[in-house]
Parts: sequence; C-alpha cells; structure tokens
Amino acid sequence: MPSSVAIATDISTGAASQTFAPGAQVAVQLPLPLEAYDYRVPESGPLMAGDIVEVPLGRRFEVGVVWGPGTSAVAPEKLKEIVQKVDLPGLPEPLRKFIDWVAAYTLQPAGAVLRMALNAARGWQGMPSVAAIVPSGLALADTSLKPTPNRQKLLAAANKGTFETAAALARAAGVSASGVRDLINAGVLNVIQQTAPAMFAPPNPNHMQPRLEAAQTAAARTLVDTVGKGFSVTLLDGVTGSGKTEVYLEAVAATVARGQQVLVLVPEIALTAQSLARFVGRFGVRPAEWHSDLPGKVRRATWAAVAEGSAHVVVGARSALFLPFRDLGLIVVDEEHESAFKQEEGVIYHARDMAIVRARITECPIVLASATPSLETVLNVRGGRFASVHLPQRYNAAQMPKIEQIDMRKHPPEKGRWGRSWLSPPMVDAVTRTLESGEQALLFLNRRGYAPVTICRTCGHRLHCPSCTAWLVEHRLTRRLMCHHCGYTQRQAETCPSCSATDSFVPCGPGVERVAEEALARWPDARIRAVTSDTLDRPSAVAELIDDILNHRIDLLVGTQVLAKGHHFPNLTLVGVVDADLGLSGWDLRSAERTYQMLHQVAGRAGRAQKPGRVLLQTHDPAHPVLRALASGDSEQFLEQEISARELLGMPPFGRLVALIVSGPDEIAVRETAKRLASAAPTDAGVEVLGPAPAVMAVLRGQHRHRLLLKTDRNTKPQPLVADWLARVRVPNSVRVQIDVDPYSFM
Ligand code: ADP
Ligand code: ZN
Repeated sequence: MPSSVAIATDISTGAASQTFAPGAQVAVQLPLPLEAYDYRVPESGPLMAGDIVEVPLGRRFEVGVVWGPGTSAVAPEKLKEIVQKVDLPGLPEPLRKFIDWVAAYTLQPAGAVLRMALNAARGWQGMPSVAAIVPSGLALADTSLKPTPNRQKLLAAANKGTFETAAALARAAGVSASGVRDLINAGVLNVIQQTAPAMFAPPNPNHMQPRLEAAQTAAARTLVDTVGKGFSVTLLDGVTGSGKTEVYLEAVAATVARGQQVLVLVPEIALTAQSLARFVGRFGVRPAEWHSDLPGKVRRATWAAVAEGSAHVVVGARSALFLPFRDLGLIVVDEEHESAFKQEEGVIYHARDMAIVRARITECPIVLASATPSLETVLNVRGGRFASVHLPQRYNAAQMPKIEQIDMRKHPPEKGRWGRSWLSPPMVDAVTRTLESGEQALLFLNRRGYAPVTICRTCGHRLHCPSCTAWLVEHRLTRRLMCHHCGYTQRQAETCPSCSATDSFVPCGPGVERVAEEALARWPDARIRAVTSDTLDRPSAVAELIDDILNHRIDLLVGTQVLAKGHHFPNLTLVGVVDADLGLSGWDLRSAERTYQMLHQVAGRAGRAQKPGRVLLQTHDPAHPVLRALASGDSEQFLEQEISARELLGMPPFGRLVALIVSGPDEIAVRETAKRLASAAPTDAGVEVLGPAPAVMAVLRGQHRHRLLLKTDRNTKPQPLVADWLARVRVPNSVRVQIDVDPYSFM
C-alpha cells in the first residue's frame, strides 16, 4: 500500500555528508566513461553522491547518478542544470565503488555497468507512481512568480494528469522542463513521494531450525563465525545431498539476526522453485527474488526495498549483484562452478568473481558452495586465499550413487522397430528393472530437440542457419527447425534447397526428443516426460514438473541439464547418461572440467534418500580421465591432471586471458580490423597474442566474427595493455570490438 512516508533519502553511505554545488559529475547510463558529464546543481537542493537525478542530454532527458563533484573547467552557470532529483533511494557508496571496479576490470565503459545497476530505475518514467507532481491549490497569482504563458501551460497540464517527473509534465505541457522547478519552489506544485509497498516480511531466523548432523554443525559454525567479521571467502564443498543449503542457511540466519542483508546468487532461475520453498520452510517467508523475467512493477519495488533495507534476503541471478543493498552482510554463491555465472553479452563479467569483489568492497563474508568446485576456487583454497569447509557425506546416511560405465563398443544399441536406437542393452535392462520396482529413472542427454543435424539423403546437404555458422536443429514437438545460437526458426523443410529432392531429409544423431521417442516405444506403459528448456519456459512449468516428479506422476524423465542441478527427488534411483562423451571432445580450456561437473551433478540426482542410486554412463571412451574419475569417485587424479596441464600451458589461473571478438556485417572490414589489431598488438615480455582467426562461430546472427586472444603471465595485469592496444587501432564504425576478460567461451 502506498503511504505518504517518503522513501528515505539519506541512504547514501559514506559520502552522505558530502553535498555538491554548484557543479556535479553525473554518470549517465550510456556506454561512455563517467568523466564526461558535468551539470549545474539546482538551487532547490544540494545533492549527494549516489543521488539519482534526471538530466538533459542532447534533446532528451536521461536518468543518471551523481558521481562526484564537478570537474569541468566550464563556468557553472554555463553548465546545463540537473532537472530534478528522482525519488528513488540513491546508490550507496559500496555499489558505486563496485561499478567503478567492474568497469575498470572488464574494460567496459562505466556507464554500461551503471545501466545494470539502474536497471530497475530505467523504466522509471511511466512506471507505477512512486512520486507525483501535483498542483498544491495555490494559485500563480498568489505567488511572486509572473504568470507567464509557459507557467500557465504547466499548471494546466498538472491539473489534467499525474506526472512522475518534471520532464513528463513539461512534455505534456509542450514547454521546457526548467520551469517546473520554479513552480515547485514557489509552492504552486507539490512533489508527493510515496514509499514502495512493504513486500518483504522479515525472515524469522528461528522459524524452523533444522537439526544438523555433526559435520553439518561444524561447517555451519565455521560459516556463522565469518559473519560480522569483515571480508572473507569460504568454500563450502560438499557432496551432492550433503545439506549444503541447510548449512549456508545458518549463516543467512545469523546475518539476518544481525539486521543485515543477504544476497544468494544462483546460476539460473529454474533452480529457485525448490530453493524458495526451502527458504520459506526455514524462515517462514519468501525471500525477494531477482531475475530478468520479473514484471516491471515488482522489479522496481524490489529494487527500492533492497535499497531501503526492507528486503532482507535476495535470491537472484547474476544481475542481483548490482542491487543497491543498504547493508549487505553476506553473499552466498550457490553452485559456484557454474558457467552460467558468466554473462556473455553486453558487459561481459563473471558473477562469481565479481561477487567476491563486491564482498571485499562491502567488507562482508562470501560463501561459495559446490559439490564440484571450479579449478580456480580449488587453487585459491590451496593457496590459502580462501578458507574451506567440507561435507564428505550425504545427509541421513544416504549413500552416494554407484557410477558405472557402459562401453558402447561392446554393447552397441540394437535397432528396434522404431528405427535407430540410442540405448544399449544394459541401459535398457536397468531402466526396465527400475520401472518394475516402482522407482523413477532419468535419461540424460544434454541436447535439445530431436536431432542435431538434418541431412539430405540425395545430395548430402545439411540444413544450416541462414545467419550463423550452425546446423539447424530439428524440433519435432513443434515441427520446426531451429538455430540454437540466434533463435532463428523455420518450418520443417520438404524440399532440399540444394538439390530440390523432396522428402529426402533424414535426422542425424539424437536429441532428447528422439530418445524420448525411443523410450515411448520401449516402455509403452510408463509415464514418460521429455524435459528441456523448451518445455520449461516458465517458472510455473518448473514448479509443476517438480510436483509431478515428487508425487510420482512421472516414471521416466528424458531431459537435458535443466534437471541436472539442485533438485532433490527421493524416489529417483537411476540416472542413465545417454552420451557421456558429449562435450569431452571440445578443445576449449574447460571442456573436460565442465563435463565432469555436469555429469557429477546429474549423477547426484540418483538415490538421494534411503534407496540407493545407480548411474550408468554410456561411452565410447571409458579410459578418458573424466569418465574414470566419475566411475572411481576419485576426482583427485583428474584434478591434478587438469591443474598441471593448465600450469604447463600458462592457462588460467596460471596466466591471464583477454579475448577480443571483432565482429560486423562486412566480412572484409572485420578481417582487416582484426589484422590491424594483430599488427598493433603489445609486444611486452610475458605477453602473447594469438590470432586473429575466424571464430568457431565464424558468423553469428549475420555478424562475421574474428577472434584474438591476449595471454599474459599471472603477474601481468592485462587491462592497461589492452586499453593501450585498442587506443592505437582505428576501428571503423561498422565493426565492433568486444572485450572478454577471463573468457569462458571460445566460440
Ligand atoms: P546439497 O545442496 O548439498 O545437494 P541439500 O542442502 O539440497 O544438499 O540437502 C539434501 C536434502 O537433505 C534436502 O532435502 C535437505 O532438506 C535434506 N537435509 C539436509 N540436511 C538436513 C538436516 N540437517 N535436517 C533435515 N533435512 C536435511
Ligand atoms: Zn542462427
């Protein structure tokens, strides 16, 4: 409910006492450096660093943030004036420092980083009212102001509608916005401020305290001990089902009990359906959620509640890192190894790494939770930079699943009446027995659609995306062909575009839909459900699916990694990995590590309660270190091998990488720019530049792409080198050079 209580305007920490006049530097949400814009501070009020303001920019008005005192040599009276302070809480100092830090580290313009932080304020104009400019009832004639036509127009407009901003009112009146303030100062117009609705009841740290086991208690105590003691990083490393969530929720409780806020970062929103429920169980209330699909109104209210401190715990995707926490006391990064924490578009950053930076700037502890910590994190623990706690066993004496390999060379699938088969006889047996004993099974294949490639039987032509270097993937459920890189879709083709043969297309290889088709043919009486991100497109769909699994309305799941993480299904006792080799042949730095983590996660879905679980891996390469590590349950040897390989090659974290992705619609311009970059590359000792070379995705969304990779030794900061380098090379307007510091994608 809106009330007349104003949103606290004294939230800016640190610099609260520092006000600016006559000039102030205002950061705007454009891909520009921050120094660019000085404005005159209106006489109506001093401004503080962090205040959100509306400023004229060219012919428009922009929402920006007061960043510091003015630096311009221009006389204050010649500067353009700030239109008004927006009635949103300001950005606290730690967040402003964080924005500066992220911009410098990722080599992105600070304005672009600020844009993420002001995300909720962006739709400010025209969003549900938090402030309104309304007539006070005082007539112009009763003031010292001259009743000019412009003032009368403004007043007339204000009498007709509700306006949140001076700019909106001025637009409606068809006059300039500068006159609005005079009317406000004279008391003819009033600014009514309303607080955001109180959406988030405070969590009760004692609502339902779990009875922790000994190892859990010890781990929880270690984490709780870090709360309130400044910056620290602790890895919570526990096998799947060991109760990592229960344990870190104790640290959340301790932080909430101190009256501080908590941020729990999760890799994907699909994860939170069950974790929100657990949160409610533990604290009696829902946490605030933050992700890209929040409706605008909720988004803005959440943003304001986080700034006011009335949102105590936020569970969110990576962009939650840029929320304006009033008093952040703890950050948790769940599934810290997840590559989904890397944002690959716009400002390219790794949310886990930046979360550590945010914790350091905020001087609060951070917990990284994972059953398969990233190699970077493992090395940080070994180097003594991170602390760690370990949960070696599953909760309640549940056993870790037994992981076995099926050598596909010895047990090839037998062709069935439905055509090609993807399941070997031992896999078929295992599923049959599981279903017979009334338990649930999951067949896992990390490939959406029916078949990854569609080929013309007559001429060998393969259907590919018109704007990417990628095959079109057949999706039989929707009867469409789809590009998984740009989202292009077309109807299932009937004639070959190359040889005009009709009905000549054959699918090549399996996707989940195809395995589900085989499963339906093999187990006609079983309730089978194919699950991919295509079917789980809404949070409610995820919730329904989980409910169906828990209530055993599904016997056999056939799914991609959407199901691999976090969920807990007590009656699921068999996990069959259809193609464990998928991803292993990749040449990218982390493909083995990632495959290991993913298979470990999906294996962890099996036998989480009292019934023992079993995992079968179909492979053509049983000797591969990843598969051996999974089957033996001993990851140590595999990890050592990965570590020494990276060390030998000077790869992260033993060296640093920055990728430059040169792209544009004109292939020649792109290639020429990439060449020019290469010839201007830094030649310092300890620095190596690889490329240019056409990217693996040589064309993406119609953009031609070339890549360069700068590699430095561990002690050389690449940022200044790259900044210098780019400053030396002229890039035509049609060409874009994207900078990816610490790249995870090498496509
Ligand atoms: P992880 O995140 O390590 O895979 P979870 O935190 O999801 O493990 O715990 C696995 C399951 O065990 C969950 O259903 C959780 O509620 C339950 N569990 C773990 N520890 C406890 C405990 N101390 N008391 C009650 N339930 C627990
Ligand atoms: Zn495409």
